[in-house]
Amino acid sequence: MENKGKVIIISGPSGVGKGTVVKHLLTLDEKIAVSVSATTRQMREGEEHGVHYFYITREEFEDNIKNDRMLEYTQYNGNYYGTLKSHVRDLQNNGKTVILEIEVDGAMQVKKKLPDAITVFMVAPSEEEVERRLRKRNTECEEVIQKRLAIAKGEMAHAKEYDYVVCNDDVDNAANRILDILKD
Ligand code: 5GP
Repeated sequence: MENKGKVIIISGPSGVGKGTVVKHLLTLDEKIAVSVSATTRQMREGEEHGVHYFYITREEFEDNIKNDRMLEYTQYNGNYYGTLKSHVRDLQNNGKTVILEIEVDGAMQVKKKLPDAITVFMVAPSEEEVERRLRKRNTECEEVIQKRLAIAKGEMAHAKEYDYVVCNDDVDNAANRILDILKD
């Protein structure tokens, strides 16, 4: 276990800029790798299979659940999202610090299975900022945006269940705060 890379879980409301901070982190430390999740949601424009997600069918996803291949999984906004055990294990065995960018429910499942995992909840400077960023992304219709905003408000209540709360006031600041947390 000692030589295995650490696992850090990053959650936070949709639109908070988690993805941007994670991308920046990857440029700051080559030991850091991000876990690619499996999902049944539709691919968004600009996304790639195996890079942003492994896009699989509900049938395949449910087969993975049945065969205990998931470290965690959840249903979010009508789709399955989850982390494959084998994927995280491979990255850890390569000495990588593994980032899981997952929602609250999945984060708590991982924390139970891997108590050494570090949990970080990312927040935006304000609620208005979250809405502005979600709209700027402009990849989804109003109904989906409204659903994501409602979920985001509910998720905020969970910040206290995390080891750390990091405010994404600035991408570089937020990424460096996470690097400091990893040094502890
Ligand atoms: P999106 O559709 O915007 O890519 O992701 C929606 C939500 O699903 C985000 O809050 C994201 O953190 C979460 N998510 C992505 N991958 C996983 C995963 O593997 N497991 C869980 N539990 N949540 C995930």
